Amino acid sequence: MISALKALDRLREGNRRFVSDVRGQGSSTGQTRRNELVAGQQPFAIILGCSDSRVPAEIVFDEGLGELFVIRVAGNIVAPSQIGSVEFAACLYDTPLVVVMGHSMCGAVVTTLEELERPTGNRSANLQSIVNRIRPSVEVLLETDLHADREVLLRQAIRANVRASVAQLRYGSKVLEDLIEQGRLLVVGAEYSLETGVVDFFYGLPEKA
Ligand SMILES: [Zn+2]
Repeated sequence: MISALKALDRLREGNRRFVSDVRGQGSSTGQTRRNELVAGQQPFAIILGCSDSRVPAEIVFDEGLGELFVIRVAGNIVAPSQIGSVEFAACLYDTPLVVVMGHSMCGAVVTTLEELERPTGNRSANLQSIVNRIRPSVEVLLETDLHADREVLLRQAIRANVRASVAQLRYGSKVLEDLIEQGRLLVVGAEYSLETGVVDFFYGLPEKA
């Protein structure tokens, strides 16, 4: 298996291809590749991203079948099943890198902001459980001067929510904590821009990355 930094480079290169509209050079989805993968997989990165239809991980990183282990949930939140999914891939396939990927204009973060500003009390318990996991990152920002500028507030809230998910993966599981300590797993945060297509790896990178 490649190193976490190599995995990061590969994601960056794939995203560059996506942004330049030259997708498909590094990815394979054909019958030959399907045949190869029947016996097993070795995904080189785990992506925890938002369910938003505009942010499909395999496409924005220009990867084919068998390369990315992807977990998608509205607001890229971390609940026990997301931690379990990361543990599964990290332990079973030795995948060295986890990327929590938020994105601009995230509807789940917008909904959380609205809920905090004007509580409606009529959301389903299921949707509320997502809002509740995003809420702590957003709440602290609302208490600052940021609340005056909606656009800046949303941008900061999206990044704060990514950082919170990274922290929950790093410290919410003994299994993952041990892998990180042994240098076998790196967890970083990123934001995808709907406007440009660029993924900005903004959090948790080692200095040499
Ligand atoms: Zn979203």
